[in-house]
Amino acid sequence: MKIWLDGGLQDSESARVSVFDHGLTVGDGIFETVKAVEGRPFALTRHLDRLARSARGLGLPDPDRDEVRRACAAVLDADPMPLGRLRITYTGGHGPLGSDRGDRGPTLVVALGESARRPDSTAVITVPWTRNERGAVTGLKTTSYAENVVALARAREQGASEALFANTVGQLCEGTGSNVFVVLDGEIHTPPVASGCLAGITRALAVEWTGAKESDLPLDVLERADEIFLTSTLRDVQGVHRVDGRELPGAPGPVTAKAMRIFDERAGHDLDP
Ligand code: PLP
Repeated sequence: MKIWLDGGLQDSESARVSVFDHGLTVGDGIFETVKAVEGRPFALTRHLDRLARSARGLGLPDPDRDEVRRACAAVLDADPMPLGRLRITYTGGHGPLGSDRGDRGPTLVVALGESARRPDSTAVITVPWTRNERGAVTGLKTTSYAENVVALARAREQGASEALFANTVGQLCEGTGSNVFVVLDGEIHTPPVASGCLAGITRALAVEWTGAKESDLPLDVLERADEIFLTSTLRDVQGVHRVDGRELPGAPGPVTAKAMRIFDERAGHDLDP
């Protein structure tokens, strides 16, 4: 596989990043996962906007958008595949041990992996740990994902593919790598960004395209929602057929199925919505 590093394509087996890279030593980095359909990135402009917002939030220099676009095109050209996932990683770069950044500037890596369409529905669990809706990096897509790794492992142990968090005041927030929607009396609701969730790109499109409302929701809404679905770059819109011990027979239900159809139709026509 080819990856993009230091301004050009390199072989992924031999490419080298400093062992003192701040992304590695202290998790000082940001990233984006971008879906690529038949070699073409989906919603890349929105991903570049969020990458820039995350960079500003961490006090990193703005990523060079032209370089990131060129890097995505180059890795996609180098390894054609029907459905891919681009991973853009941008870190504080080589630095001294400790939390101060070095002065060599950021590291940019763009890599490509294969992806596959996810099942129409999945099982999720809730976890007892909370998202902090008022943290210094809340809402930024940082590489500090250890909490998500732990929660996802808990989900896997229980035969689920996602773990959902509440925030510190007990409101439904998001999953380890997805946003969550619930259907109540035919209306679609999703937690607002103020709940501490990531401003997911699929979430924003789903809100625009289905008219879903952004609402503060207690975690126990999951016990009574008529339908639940997840959104993310790699899941698109995916129904939930079990949450903890509760089965939701027939998932994806009619409202979720409609949201899936709308998403497939629109996203299929517009690669940069
Ligand atoms: N929430 C978290 C914590 C995520 O990591 C992700 C995606 O990776 C999402 C939500 C969904 O965001 P998007 O739709 O932009 O992929």
